[in-house]
Amino acid sequence: MTKRDYYEILGVSRTAQQEEIKRAYRKLAVKYHPDKNPGDASSEASFKELAEAYDIISDADKRAAYDRYGHAAFQGAGGRGAAGGFHDPFDLFREMFAGQGGKAGMGGMGGGIFEQFFQGGAEASSRDGKQRGADLRYDLQITLEEAFSGCEKEIEIQKLDACQTCDGSGAAPGAKTASCSLCQGRGQVAMSRGFFQVVQTCPQCHGAGQVIDKPCQNCRGEGCEERVSRITLKIPAGIDEGARLRSSGSGEAGIRGGGKGDLYVIIHLKKHSVFEREGMNLHCQIPIPFSIAALGGEVKVPTLCGLVDLKIVSGTQSGSTFSIRGSGMPSLQSPRKGDLYVRVEVEVPTKLNAEQRQALEKFSQLCGEENTPLHRSFTERLKDFLSN
Ligand SMILES: [Zn+2]
Ligand SMILES: [Zn+2]
Repeated sequence: MTKRDYYEILGVSRTAQQEEIKRAYRKLAVKYHPDKNPGDASSEASFKELAEAYDIISDADKRAAYDRYGHAAFQGAGGRGAAGGFHDPFDLFREMFAGQGGKAGMGGMGGGIFEQFFQGGAEASSRDGKQRGADLRYDLQITLEEAFSGCEKEIEIQKLDACQTCDGSGAAPGAKTASCSLCQGRGQVAMSRGFFQVVQTCPQCHGAGQVIDKPCQNCRGEGCEERVSRITLKIPAGIDEGARLRSSGSGEAGIRGGGKGDLYVIIHLKKHSVFEREGMNLHCQIPIPFSIAALGGEVKVPTLCGLVDLKIVSGTQSGSTFSIRGSGMPSLQSPRKGDLYVRVEVEVPTKLNAEQRQALEKFSQLCGEENTPLHRSFTERLKDFLSN
């Protein structure tokens, strides 16, 4: 397979300036990030391809070599095994979006959830090998009743947590730290990649400059281990489908003393057997006997706080909607509540016995035009239609 041109991948011209290249990378990186395209292998491939292109074009030396020799510039001694010759695409992405944290967010990139995931990642990774723990996402299903009154939920998630054996230090009991032998404590090593020397984070101490002589056996010195954790979440009353809650510090543990990631909980509402929700309002349908529709009366209507009486005016037609103020969902921001809309369906009686049939036949004989307003207006319209 021929490799695509790096400039083409980034969508910039060969004369593009640093700022433009950076902007192009950021835009595309967000678009192709696997978190945004779960399970889509082609996006992931694009994401990696993009990282590689950016790694080269954003570096003046590498760019000059690429301009001169093309892809051949990077197929020398380091060889083609060289996905490793480039940055880890995820590290690159994090570096790009870390540091941005406090400032202008991600500069109007409109990433939604995604945007949030990378904010506050100021210490995403740093020179001394500390790495902030990953943010996690959890999809939580709750009932409409739970969304109505608010609730507490305990969830279990499997994640990287501080190692219990070494308490997160990564050191075995009695271990000593010593300067790293590979980088002599500098945390970085120079490697040759084709035509150049590239300075990389030391693979032995991961940039810390120091190594522990006896790493914790349980976590192999990483300071964290995979564990099932229980987390209690407070779900506020009024929460709606798709809402996102952040549980700060409940994400994965950082590596080598880096901060914890956050947990993002995405709320999903289970379908309710009686109510349908539309923002703060609720809708339901109830059948009413045709005698009540004709005579008027009261019927019991369900709300999320129990049954209430609803007055049906005489002459109510099937499909009419009544609203019950304040019987909808609570608001997240104010004490206001939405309304409940009740649509009535007039039920035609079935399985009439002889006596009922007689009574209805009698009733029918007593009916005149004034009793059937819908029929009257329909006849009018029909006449118009037929005369045209
Ligand atoms: Zn440990
Ligand atoms: Zn080292």
